[in-house]
Amino acid sequence: MNFDNIRIVLVNTTHPGNIGAVARAMKNMGLSRLYLVEPRLFPHEEAEWRAVSAGDLLESAVVTATLDEAIADCQFVVGTSARGRRIPWPVLDPRTCAEHIDQRADNEQVAILFGREDRGLTNEELQLCNLHLHIPTSEDYSSLNLAMAVQVVAYELRMRQAAPQLPAEADAEWDAPFATRENMERFYQHLEETLVGIEFLDPAAPRQLMARLRRLYARVRLDEMELNILRGILTETQKWVERGKQGSGR
Ligand code: SAH
Repeated sequence: MNFDNIRIVLVNTTHPGNIGAVARAMKNMGLSRLYLVEPRLFPHEEAEWRAVSAGDLLESAVVTATLDEAIADCQFVVGTSARGRRIPWPVLDPRTCAEHIDQRADNEQVAILFGREDRGLTNEELQLCNLHLHIPTSEDYSSLNLAMAVQVVAYELRMRQAAPQLPAEADAEWDAPFATRENMERFYQHLEETLVGIEFLDPAAPRQLMARLRRLYARVRLDEMELNILRGILTETQKWVERGKQGSGR
């Protein structure tokens, strides 16, 4: 597993001290790529104090204005969550998750997302993910401190890296690269437009349709070739819709 292909993404962190503690947890475990999506206070001396000897990770941290920017080029995205959400997603513990990441991080860009101290990741953010990771806890109190959650996940990656290699997953020899987040997002937009066009999706009452479709595609993981085929089908469908409208004078 190539740790250089794994990024830790902190979304809207409020306390700079947590950012420093995350940098330290990462450096202890050998991870180095820290992304900060719109942190409230950064750079900040409290982050530096808490990072101790991991100040270099703060210096090289990539700060972005949006989550999309931070993960546009990623093919595999894991979202961490302290609690269950409205639409269940595949949820794994950190150890099992580390196995999945191990199978991908040699050839793919992997992101692990961590949420806000007060309310975690939003449902929309969690729906960008292929998998959800939950650290098992006492039922009385499931929410860990942000940096402690990063520590647990990073430790499991470290342990996985040190473990004897499993035979590569069938995926490793796949004939086309897996789609990036950016291209998946273009596909979802195209899909939504088309579903509205054929009147399968009512924009006034969308319910959870797009969330469920996102979950479906996140589960199978499309490669770039499959993604192009689906987009081709959508484009042709849209042409038929247009022709239908012209024909019926609508
Ligand atoms: N009250 C928030 C918890 C936020 S804790 C909520 O209910 O979602 C801040 C972040 O730490 C979370 O967004 C998540 O990234 C991580 N975290 C905390 N506890 C976790 C757990 N048990 N499993 C996985 N991630 C956890």
